[in-house]
Amino acid sequence: MTGQKENRYDVAVIGGGLTGLTAAVYLARSGKSVLLLEKDSLLGGLAQTERMNGALFNLGPHAMYEGGAALQILRELNCLPDGGYASKGSMIGIWQGKMVSVPQDLTLEENAEWGKLMGGLSLIDTHSIRSTSIQDWVDRHVRHERVRFFFYAMCRQWSYCNNMSELSAGYVIEQGQLAGQGVRYVDGGWQTVVNDLREAAIQAGAVILTGRSAEQIMHKDGIVDALLLSDGTKIEVDAVIAGSGPNEVCRLVQGADRMSIGKWKEESSPLYAACLDIALRHLPHPERVFALGLDQPLYFSKHSGAVQLSDNGAHVLHAMRYNGNEATRDGMADEAELTRLLDLLEPGWEREVVAIRFTPNVLVAHDLRTVRHGGAGPAPGPIVPEIHGLYVAGDWVGGDGRLADAGMASAKQAALEVIRNV
Ligand SMILES: Cc1cc2nc3c(=O)[nH]c(=O)nc-3n(C[C@H](O)[C@H](O)[C@H](O)COP(=O)(O)OP(=O)(O)OC[C@H]3O[C@@H](n4cnc5c(N)ncnc54)[C@H](O)[C@@H]3O)c2cc1C
Repeated sequence: MTGQKENRYDVAVIGGGLTGLTAAVYLARSGKSVLLLEKDSLLGGLAQTERMNGALFNLGPHAMYEGGAALQILRELNCLPDGGYASKGSMIGIWQGKMVSVPQDLTLEENAEWGKLMGGLSLIDTHSIRSTSIQDWVDRHVRHERVRFFFYAMCRQWSYCNNMSELSAGYVIEQGQLAGQGVRYVDGGWQTVVNDLREAAIQAGAVILTGRSAEQIMHKDGIVDALLLSDGTKIEVDAVIAGSGPNEVCRLVQGADRMSIGKWKEESSPLYAACLDIALRHLPHPERVFALGLDQPLYFSKHSGAVQLSDNGAHVLHAMRYNGNEATRDGMADEAELTRLLDLLEPGWEREVVAIRFTPNVLVAHDLRTVRHGGAGPAPGPIVPEIHGLYVAGDWVGGDGRLADAGMASAKQAALEVIRNV
Protein backbone atom coordinates (compact mmCIF):
# COMPACT_ATOMS: atom_id res chain seq x y z
CA MET A 1 0.00 0.00 0.00
CA THR A 2 1.48 3.37 -0.98
CA GLY A 3 0.87 5.43 2.18
CA GLN A 4 -2.88 5.93 2.58
CA LYS A 5 -4.17 9.29 3.85
CA GLU A 6 -7.77 10.23 4.48
CA ASN A 7 -9.61 10.65 1.16
CA ARG A 8 -6.59 9.36 -0.73
CA TYR A 9 -6.47 5.89 -2.30
CA ASP A 10 -4.39 4.25 -4.99
CA VAL A 11 -7.51 3.05 -6.78
CA ALA A 12 -11.24 3.66 -6.63
CA VAL A 13 -13.62 1.01 -7.93
CA ILE A 14 -17.08 2.14 -8.96
CA GLY A 15 -19.83 -0.45 -8.50
CA GLY A 16 -20.30 -3.23 -5.96
CA GLY A 17 -21.55 -5.91 -8.34
CA LEU A 18 -19.52 -9.03 -9.15
CA THR A 19 -17.30 -7.02 -11.49
CA GLY A 20 -16.37 -4.28 -9.01
CA LEU A 21 -15.92 -6.72 -6.13
CA THR A 22 -13.65 -8.98 -8.21
CA ALA A 23 -11.45 -6.02 -9.17
CA ALA A 24 -11.31 -4.90 -5.52
CA VAL A 25 -10.09 -8.31 -4.33
CA TYR A 26 -7.26 -8.51 -6.89
CA LEU A 27 -6.18 -4.92 -6.21
CA ALA A 28 -6.28 -5.17 -2.42
CA ARG A 29 -4.41 -8.48 -2.43
CA SER A 30 -1.67 -6.87 -4.53
CA GLY A 31 -1.15 -4.25 -1.80
CA LYS A 32 -2.97 -1.32 -3.40
CA SER A 33 -5.16 0.86 -1.22
CA VAL A 34 -8.69 0.43 -2.60
CA LEU A 35 -11.97 2.24 -2.12
CA LEU A 36 -15.07 0.58 -3.58
CA LEU A 37 -18.25 2.62 -3.92
CA GLU A 38 -21.72 1.19 -4.38
CA LYS A 39 -24.63 3.58 -4.81
CA ASP A 40 -27.23 1.05 -3.65
CA SER A 41 -27.60 0.26 0.04
CA LEU A 42 -26.81 -3.41 -0.78
CA LEU A 43 -23.89 -4.92 -2.64
CA GLY A 44 -24.42 -7.28 -5.55
CA GLY A 45 -26.14 -5.33 -8.33
CA LEU A 46 -27.78 -7.84 -10.65
CA ALA A 47 -26.35 -10.70 -8.58
CA GLN A 48 -28.39 -9.80 -5.48
CA THR A 49 -30.57 -12.53 -3.98
CA GLU A 50 -33.78 -11.55 -2.21
CA ARG A 51 -35.26 -13.63 0.62
CA MET A 52 -39.07 -13.82 0.33
CA ASN A 53 -41.06 -15.87 2.81
CA GLY A 54 -38.17 -18.31 3.29
CA ALA A 55 -37.37 -18.61 -0.44
CA LEU A 56 -34.23 -17.21 -2.00
CA PHE A 57 -34.76 -15.47 -5.32
CA ASN A 58 -31.93 -14.54 -7.61
CA LEU A 59 -33.00 -11.86 -10.06
CA GLY A 60 -34.27 -14.40 -12.59
CA PRO A 61 -32.44 -17.62 -13.45
CA HIS A 62 -28.72 -17.41 -12.69
CA ALA A 63 -26.14 -20.08 -13.51
CA MET A 64 -22.36 -20.22 -13.89
CA TYR A 65 -20.67 -22.17 -16.63
CA GLU A 66 -18.11 -24.78 -15.66
CA GLY A 67 -14.99 -23.79 -17.59
CA GLY A 68 -16.11 -20.14 -17.74
CA ALA A 69 -14.06 -17.25 -16.34
CA ALA A 70 -16.31 -16.60 -13.33
CA LEU A 71 -15.78 -20.02 -11.76
CA GLN A 72 -12.08 -20.02 -12.67
CA ILE A 73 -11.63 -16.66 -10.93
CA LEU A 74 -13.65 -17.68 -7.87
CA ARG A 75 -11.50 -20.80 -7.61
CA GLU A 76 -8.32 -18.70 -7.91
CA LEU A 77 -9.57 -16.28 -5.22
CA ASN A 78 -10.57 -19.16 -2.96
CA CYS A 79 -14.19 -18.03 -3.09
CA LEU A 80 -15.70 -20.97 -4.96
CA PRO A 81 -19.33 -21.36 -3.82
CA ASP A 82 -21.08 -24.65 -3.07
CA GLY A 83 -23.55 -25.54 -5.72
CA GLY A 84 -25.17 -28.17 -7.86
CA TYR A 85 -25.52 -28.88 -11.52
CA ALA A 86 -28.46 -28.24 -13.82
CA SER A 87 -29.97 -31.49 -15.01
CA LYS A 88 -28.74 -32.65 -18.39
CA GLY A 89 -31.96 -34.66 -18.82
CA SER A 90 -34.50 -34.23 -21.54
CA MET A 91 -35.85 -30.84 -22.45
CA ILE A 92 -39.45 -29.84 -23.02
CA GLY A 93 -40.10 -27.57 -25.98
CA ILE A 94 -43.15 -25.33 -26.13
CA TRP A 95 -44.56 -25.18 -29.65
CA GLN A 96 -47.86 -23.43 -30.46
CA GLY A 97 -48.83 -23.53 -26.79
CA LYS A 98 -48.22 -27.29 -26.42
CA MET A 99 -45.41 -29.38 -24.96
CA VAL A 100 -43.06 -31.43 -27.12
CA SER A 101 -40.23 -33.53 -25.74
CA VAL A 102 -36.74 -33.48 -27.14
CA PRO A 103 -35.61 -35.86 -28.50
CA GLN A 104 -38.62 -38.20 -28.00
CA ASP A 105 -41.05 -36.26 -30.20
CA LEU A 106 -38.68 -35.76 -33.12
CA THR A 107 -38.79 -37.96 -36.23
CA LEU A 108 -35.94 -40.41 -36.70
CA GLU A 109 -34.28 -38.11 -39.25
CA GLU A 110 -34.72 -35.03 -37.06
CA ASN A 111 -33.39 -36.93 -34.09
CA ALA A 112 -30.31 -38.02 -36.00
CA GLU A 113 -29.60 -34.44 -37.07
CA TRP A 114 -30.19 -33.10 -33.54
CA GLY A 115 -27.86 -35.72 -32.05
CA LYS A 116 -25.15 -34.96 -34.61
CA LEU A 117 -25.47 -31.21 -34.08
CA MET A 118 -25.32 -31.30 -30.28
CA GLY A 119 -22.78 -34.15 -30.20
CA GLY A 120 -20.46 -32.30 -32.57
CA LEU A 121 -20.77 -28.89 -30.91
CA SER A 122 -17.58 -29.21 -28.88
CA LEU A 123 -15.55 -29.86 -32.06
CA ILE A 124 -16.49 -26.63 -33.84
CA ASP A 125 -13.69 -24.08 -34.33
CA THR A 126 -15.56 -21.05 -33.00
CA HIS A 127 -12.88 -18.43 -33.74
CA SER A 128 -13.26 -18.84 -37.48
CA ILE A 129 -17.02 -18.11 -37.30
CA ARG A 130 -17.05 -15.16 -34.93
CA SER A 131 -18.04 -12.70 -37.63
CA THR A 132 -20.72 -15.02 -39.05
CA SER A 133 -24.25 -14.71 -37.67
CA ILE A 134 -25.73 -17.82 -36.06
CA GLN A 135 -28.62 -17.58 -38.52
CA ASP A 136 -26.24 -17.83 -41.49
CA TRP A 137 -24.41 -20.69 -39.82
CA VAL A 138 -27.64 -22.60 -39.11
CA ASP A 139 -28.88 -22.02 -42.67
CA ARG A 140 -25.75 -23.75 -43.92
CA HIS A 141 -25.53 -26.56 -41.36
CA VAL A 142 -29.05 -27.53 -40.19
CA ARG A 143 -31.57 -29.01 -42.61
CA HIS A 144 -34.74 -29.73 -40.60
CA GLU A 145 -36.91 -26.82 -39.59
CA ARG A 146 -37.82 -28.19 -36.15
CA VAL A 147 -34.16 -28.88 -35.37
CA ARG A 148 -33.45 -25.24 -36.26
CA PHE A 149 -36.12 -24.09 -33.80
CA PHE A 150 -34.71 -26.31 -31.04
CA PHE A 151 -31.21 -25.07 -31.71
CA TYR A 152 -32.29 -21.41 -31.73
CA ALA A 153 -33.99 -22.00 -28.37
CA MET A 154 -30.66 -23.31 -27.01
CA CYS A 155 -28.84 -20.31 -28.51
CA ARG A 156 -31.28 -17.95 -26.75
CA GLN A 157 -30.59 -19.73 -23.48
CA TRP A 158 -26.81 -19.52 -23.94
CA SER A 159 -26.77 -15.86 -25.01
CA TYR A 160 -30.01 -14.27 -23.67
CA CYS A 161 -30.34 -12.85 -27.18
CA ASN A 162 -33.22 -13.53 -29.54
CA ASN A 163 -31.91 -11.79 -32.63
CA MET A 164 -30.29 -14.66 -34.52
CA SER A 165 -29.25 -12.56 -37.51
CA GLU A 166 -27.10 -10.30 -35.26
CA LEU A 167 -25.74 -12.85 -32.80
CA SER A 168 -22.20 -14.07 -33.48
CA ALA A 169 -22.11 -17.80 -34.30
CA GLY A 170 -18.64 -18.23 -32.82
CA TYR A 171 -19.59 -16.50 -29.63
CA VAL A 172 -22.85 -18.36 -29.01
CA ILE A 173 -21.45 -21.78 -29.93
CA GLU A 174 -18.58 -21.15 -27.49
CA GLN A 175 -21.22 -20.64 -24.82
CA GLY A 176 -22.86 -23.90 -25.88
CA GLN A 177 -19.50 -25.65 -25.57
CA LEU A 178 -19.10 -24.28 -22.05
CA ALA A 179 -22.64 -25.33 -21.15
CA GLY A 180 -21.73 -28.84 -22.25
CA GLN A 181 -19.11 -28.91 -19.46
CA GLY A 182 -21.79 -28.27 -16.81
CA VAL A 183 -24.02 -25.45 -15.62
CA ARG A 184 -23.73 -24.69 -11.92
CA TYR A 185 -26.37 -23.17 -9.67
CA VAL A 186 -25.23 -21.66 -6.36
CA ASP A 187 -26.41 -22.76 -2.90
CA GLY A 188 -28.11 -19.82 -1.20
CA GLY A 189 -28.24 -17.90 -4.49
CA TRP A 190 -25.65 -15.61 -6.07
CA GLN A 191 -25.64 -13.38 -3.00
CA THR A 192 -23.39 -16.06 -1.49
CA VAL A 193 -20.75 -15.21 -4.10
CA VAL A 194 -21.25 -11.48 -3.52
CA ASN A 195 -20.80 -11.93 0.24
CA ASP A 196 -17.70 -14.11 -0.16
CA LEU A 197 -16.04 -11.59 -2.50
CA ARG A 198 -16.94 -8.77 -0.13
CA GLU A 199 -15.29 -10.66 2.78
CA ALA A 200 -12.20 -11.38 0.68
CA ALA A 201 -11.89 -7.71 -0.34
CA ILE A 202 -12.29 -6.44 3.21
CA GLN A 203 -9.86 -8.99 4.61
CA ALA A 204 -7.29 -7.82 2.08
CA GLY A 205 -7.75 -4.23 3.25
CA ALA A 206 -10.24 -2.73 0.78
CA VAL A 207 -12.66 -0.11 2.07
CA ILE A 208 -16.24 -0.68 0.85
CA LEU A 209 -18.86 2.04 1.10
CA THR A 210 -22.49 1.35 0.21
CA GLY A 211 -25.11 4.03 -0.38
CA ARG A 212 -22.38 6.25 -1.88
CA SER A 213 -22.49 7.25 -5.50
CA ALA A 214 -19.66 8.38 -7.78
CA GLU A 215 -20.57 11.58 -9.59
CA GLN A 216 -17.51 12.50 -11.65
CA ILE A 217 -14.20 10.92 -12.61
CA MET A 218 -11.90 13.96 -12.65
CA HIS A 219 -8.97 14.04 -15.05
CA LYS A 220 -6.37 16.62 -15.93
CA ASP A 221 -3.98 16.61 -18.89
CA GLY A 222 -5.15 13.11 -19.79
CA ILE A 223 -4.51 11.64 -16.32
CA VAL A 224 -7.03 10.57 -13.64
CA ASP A 225 -6.58 12.67 -10.52
CA ALA A 226 -9.71 12.40 -8.37
CA LEU A 227 -13.18 11.01 -7.93
CA LEU A 228 -16.04 13.27 -6.94
CA LEU A 229 -18.93 11.68 -5.00
CA SER A 230 -22.53 12.88 -5.25
CA ASP A 231 -22.33 14.24 -1.68
CA GLY A 232 -19.46 16.53 -2.76
CA THR A 233 -16.63 14.48 -1.22
CA LYS A 234 -13.48 14.49 -3.32
CA ILE A 235 -11.26 11.40 -3.22
CA GLU A 236 -7.74 11.67 -4.62
CA VAL A 237 -6.84 8.59 -6.67
CA ASP A 238 -4.25 7.43 -9.18
CA ALA A 239 -6.65 5.12 -10.96
CA VAL A 240 -10.35 4.35 -11.32
CA ILE A 241 -11.94 1.11 -12.45
CA ALA A 242 -15.51 1.76 -13.51
CA GLY A 243 -17.52 -1.44 -13.06
CA SER A 244 -20.78 0.00 -14.29
CA GLY A 245 -22.41 0.09 -17.72
CA PRO A 246 -21.16 2.23 -20.62
CA ASN A 247 -23.88 4.90 -20.22
CA GLU A 248 -22.95 5.45 -16.59
CA VAL A 249 -19.22 5.58 -17.34
CA CYS A 250 -19.85 8.24 -19.99
CA ARG A 251 -21.99 10.24 -17.56
CA LEU A 252 -19.09 10.28 -15.11
CA VAL A 253 -16.38 11.43 -17.53
CA GLN A 254 -16.42 14.93 -18.97
CA GLY A 255 -15.80 14.89 -22.71
CA ALA A 256 -16.58 11.14 -22.93
CA ASP A 257 -18.44 11.56 -26.23
CA ARG A 258 -15.16 12.38 -27.99
CA MET A 259 -13.34 9.37 -26.47
CA SER A 260 -13.36 5.61 -27.02
CA ILE A 261 -15.88 5.21 -24.19
CA GLY A 262 -18.33 7.39 -26.13
CA LYS A 263 -17.94 5.12 -29.15
CA TRP A 264 -18.33 1.98 -27.00
CA LYS A 265 -21.53 3.40 -25.53
CA GLU A 266 -22.93 4.13 -29.00
CA GLU A 267 -22.08 0.63 -30.19
CA SER A 268 -23.41 -1.30 -27.19
CA SER A 269 -26.63 -3.19 -27.68
CA PRO A 270 -28.27 -4.02 -24.32
CA LEU A 271 -30.41 -7.09 -23.65
CA TYR A 272 -33.53 -7.21 -21.49
CA ALA A 273 -35.85 -9.85 -20.01
CA ALA A 274 -39.01 -10.22 -17.95
CA CYS A 275 -38.70 -12.56 -14.96
CA LEU A 276 -41.25 -14.45 -12.93
CA ASP A 277 -39.60 -15.99 -9.87
CA ILE A 278 -41.77 -18.32 -7.87
CA ALA A 279 -41.55 -20.64 -4.85
CA LEU A 280 -44.06 -23.50 -4.50
CA ARG A 281 -44.87 -25.70 -1.51
CA HIS A 282 -45.40 -28.77 -3.71
CA LEU A 283 -44.73 -29.31 -7.37
CA PRO A 284 -47.70 -30.51 -9.39
CA HIS A 285 -45.24 -31.96 -11.95
CA PRO A 286 -41.79 -32.50 -10.39
CA GLU A 287 -40.60 -34.33 -13.52
CA ARG A 288 -40.93 -31.18 -15.68
CA VAL A 289 -37.59 -29.61 -14.84
CA PHE A 290 -36.60 -27.56 -17.85
CA ALA A 291 -38.49 -26.08 -20.81
CA LEU A 292 -37.74 -23.65 -23.60
CA GLY A 293 -40.16 -21.91 -25.97
CA LEU A 294 -39.55 -22.88 -29.60
CA ASP A 295 -41.81 -20.35 -31.32
CA GLN A 296 -41.75 -17.89 -28.39
CA PRO A 297 -38.66 -16.64 -26.48
CA LEU A 298 -39.56 -18.37 -23.19
CA TYR A 299 -37.56 -20.15 -20.47
CA PHE A 300 -38.65 -22.27 -17.52
CA SER A 301 -36.45 -24.09 -15.02
CA LYS A 302 -36.51 -25.54 -11.52
CA HIS A 303 -33.33 -24.52 -9.74
CA SER A 304 -33.99 -25.84 -6.25
CA GLY A 305 -33.73 -29.47 -7.38
CA ALA A 306 -29.99 -28.92 -7.74
CA VAL A 307 -29.27 -26.49 -4.87
CA GLN A 308 -30.57 -25.19 -1.56
CA LEU A 309 -32.75 -22.14 -2.28
CA SER A 310 -35.15 -22.08 0.66
CA ASP A 311 -35.15 -22.75 4.37
CA ASN A 312 -38.68 -24.18 4.41
CA GLY A 313 -38.48 -26.83 1.70
CA ALA A 314 -40.15 -24.64 -0.93
CA HIS A 315 -39.22 -25.32 -4.58
CA VAL A 316 -37.83 -22.34 -6.48
CA LEU A 317 -38.69 -22.01 -10.18
CA HIS A 318 -37.83 -19.35 -12.71
CA ALA A 319 -39.85 -18.40 -15.76
CA MET A 320 -38.47 -15.80 -18.09
CA ARG A 321 -39.15 -14.09 -21.40
CA TYR A 322 -36.12 -13.06 -23.48
CA ASN A 323 -36.94 -9.55 -24.67
CA GLY A 324 -33.86 -8.84 -26.77
CA ASN A 325 -33.18 -5.12 -27.20
CA GLU A 326 -36.71 -4.10 -26.16
CA ALA A 327 -36.22 -1.99 -23.02
CA THR A 328 -39.83 -0.95 -22.40
CA ARG A 329 -42.24 -3.75 -23.17
CA ASP A 330 -45.73 -4.01 -21.69
CA GLY A 331 -44.98 -5.69 -18.35
CA MET A 332 -48.57 -6.86 -17.87
CA ALA A 333 -48.53 -8.67 -21.22
CA ASP A 334 -45.21 -10.35 -20.36
CA GLU A 335 -46.50 -11.39 -16.94
CA ALA A 336 -49.63 -12.88 -18.51
CA GLU A 337 -47.50 -14.84 -21.00
CA LEU A 338 -45.27 -16.22 -18.23
CA THR A 339 -48.32 -17.10 -16.16
CA ARG A 340 -49.70 -19.09 -19.14
CA LEU A 341 -46.37 -20.91 -19.30
CA LEU A 342 -46.76 -21.91 -15.63
CA ASP A 343 -50.37 -22.95 -16.25
CA LEU A 344 -49.15 -25.28 -18.98
CA LEU A 345 -46.20 -26.80 -17.12
CA GLU A 346 -47.43 -26.75 -13.51
CA PRO A 347 -51.26 -26.64 -13.61
CA GLY A 348 -52.65 -25.84 -10.16
CA TRP A 349 -49.50 -23.92 -9.16
CA GLU A 350 -51.57 -21.03 -7.72
CA ARG A 351 -52.66 -23.21 -4.77
CA GLU A 352 -49.03 -23.93 -3.83
CA VAL A 353 -47.51 -20.44 -3.87
CA VAL A 354 -45.10 -19.59 -1.04
CA ALA A 355 -43.60 -16.51 -2.70
CA ILE A 356 -43.82 -14.89 -6.11
CA ARG A 357 -42.10 -11.92 -7.74
CA PHE A 358 -42.43 -10.47 -11.23
CA THR A 359 -39.77 -8.11 -12.62
CA PRO A 360 -40.50 -6.49 -16.00
CA ASN A 361 -37.92 -4.99 -18.36
CA VAL A 362 -34.83 -6.01 -16.42
CA LEU A 363 -31.42 -5.31 -17.95
CA VAL A 364 -29.55 -8.61 -18.34
CA ALA A 365 -26.46 -7.46 -20.21
CA HIS A 366 -25.09 -4.22 -21.60
CA ASP A 367 -24.17 -5.81 -24.89
CA LEU A 368 -25.47 -8.75 -26.90
CA ARG A 369 -22.18 -9.77 -28.57
CA THR A 370 -23.07 -9.21 -32.15
CA VAL A 371 -21.20 -10.42 -35.19
CA ARG A 372 -19.41 -7.05 -34.97
CA HIS A 373 -18.08 -7.63 -31.45
CA GLY A 374 -17.54 -11.31 -31.94
CA GLY A 375 -15.69 -10.81 -35.15
CA ALA A 376 -14.44 -7.75 -36.89
CA GLY A 377 -14.11 -4.83 -34.46
CA PRO A 378 -11.79 -4.64 -31.46
CA ALA A 379 -13.54 -5.29 -28.15
CA PRO A 380 -13.98 -2.38 -25.69
CA GLY A 381 -11.42 -1.69 -22.91
CA PRO A 382 -10.44 -2.34 -20.22
CA ILE A 383 -7.89 0.46 -20.93
CA VAL A 384 -9.47 3.80 -21.84
CA PRO A 385 -6.70 5.06 -24.14
CA GLU A 386 -7.46 8.78 -23.81
CA ILE A 387 -7.13 8.91 -19.99
CA HIS A 388 -4.19 7.36 -18.16
CA GLY A 389 -5.45 5.58 -15.03
CA LEU A 390 -9.04 5.05 -16.23
CA TYR A 391 -10.22 1.48 -16.83
CA VAL A 392 -13.59 -0.08 -17.55
CA ALA A 393 -14.84 -3.55 -16.65
CA GLY A 394 -18.15 -5.34 -17.07
CA ASP A 395 -20.15 -7.68 -19.26
CA TRP A 396 -19.61 -5.32 -22.24
CA VAL A 397 -15.80 -5.19 -21.92
CA GLY A 398 -13.27 -7.54 -23.52
CA GLY A 399 -13.71 -10.07 -26.27
CA ASP A 400 -14.35 -13.28 -24.35
CA GLY A 401 -17.21 -14.85 -22.46
CA ARG A 402 -20.58 -13.42 -21.62
CA LEU A 403 -22.43 -11.93 -18.66
CA ALA A 404 -20.73 -12.64 -15.33
CA ASP A 405 -17.85 -14.45 -17.09
CA ALA A 406 -17.11 -11.35 -19.17
CA GLY A 407 -17.59 -9.03 -16.17
CA MET A 408 -15.24 -10.92 -13.89
CA ALA A 409 -12.66 -11.62 -16.61
CA SER A 410 -12.48 -7.93 -17.52
CA ALA A 411 -12.36 -6.99 -13.81
CA LYS A 412 -9.30 -9.18 -13.35
CA GLN A 413 -7.71 -7.79 -16.51
CA ALA A 414 -8.37 -4.17 -15.43
CA ALA A 415 -6.95 -4.85 -11.96
CA LEU A 416 -3.80 -6.40 -13.44
CA GLU A 417 -3.37 -3.35 -15.71
CA VAL A 418 -3.61 -1.06 -12.66
CA ILE A 419 -1.15 -3.20 -10.71
CA ARG A 420 1.30 -3.12 -13.64
CA ASN A 421 0.96 0.48 -14.76
CA VAL A 422 -0.22 2.78 -11.99
C1 LIG B 1 -32.55 -12.19 -15.41
C2 LIG B 1 -31.05 -12.29 -15.41
C3 LIG B 1 -30.46 -13.52 -15.59
C4 LIG B 1 -29.07 -13.64 -15.62
N1 LIG B 1 -28.51 -14.87 -15.76
C5 LIG B 1 -27.18 -15.01 -15.76
C6 LIG B 1 -26.57 -16.28 -15.88
O1 LIG B 1 -27.24 -17.30 -15.93
N2 LIG B 1 -25.22 -16.34 -15.93
C7 LIG B 1 -24.43 -15.24 -15.86
O2 LIG B 1 -23.22 -15.35 -15.93
N3 LIG B 1 -24.98 -14.02 -15.70
C8 LIG B 1 -26.33 -13.87 -15.67
N4 LIG B 1 -26.90 -12.64 -15.53
C9 LIG B 1 -26.02 -11.47 -15.56
C10 LIG B 1 -25.29 -11.27 -14.28
O3 LIG B 1 -26.19 -11.07 -13.23
C11 LIG B 1 -24.42 -10.03 -14.51
O4 LIG B 1 -23.56 -10.23 -15.62
C12 LIG B 1 -23.53 -9.68 -13.35
O5 LIG B 1 -24.19 -9.81 -12.12
C13 LIG B 1 -23.14 -8.22 -13.60
O6 LIG B 1 -22.28 -7.77 -12.62
P1 LIG B 1 -21.63 -6.35 -12.74
O7 LIG B 1 -20.94 -6.09 -11.48
O8 LIG B 1 -20.88 -6.22 -14.00
O9 LIG B 1 -22.86 -5.33 -12.94
P2 LIG B 1 -24.01 -4.94 -11.92
O10 LIG B 1 -24.47 -6.13 -11.20
O11 LIG B 1 -25.00 -4.15 -12.73
O12 LIG B 1 -23.29 -4.00 -10.88
C14 LIG B 1 -22.97 -2.66 -11.15
C15 LIG B 1 -23.11 -1.92 -9.85
O13 LIG B 1 -22.64 -0.60 -10.03
C16 LIG B 1 -23.42 0.27 -9.22
N5 LIG B 1 -23.25 1.62 -9.73
C17 LIG B 1 -23.59 2.09 -10.96
N6 LIG B 1 -23.26 3.39 -11.05
C18 LIG B 1 -22.68 3.74 -9.88
C19 LIG B 1 -22.14 4.96 -9.38
N7 LIG B 1 -22.13 6.09 -10.11
N8 LIG B 1 -21.62 4.96 -8.14
C20 LIG B 1 -21.63 3.85 -7.37
N9 LIG B 1 -22.14 2.68 -7.79
C21 LIG B 1 -22.67 2.62 -9.03
C22 LIG B 1 -24.83 -0.31 -9.41
O14 LIG B 1 -25.69 0.10 -8.38
C23 LIG B 1 -24.56 -1.79 -9.39
O15 LIG B 1 -24.69 -2.35 -8.11
C24 LIG B 1 -28.28 -12.49 -15.47
C25 LIG B 1 -28.87 -11.25 -15.25
C26 LIG B 1 -30.25 -11.15 -15.20
C27 LIG B 1 -30.87 -9.81 -14.92
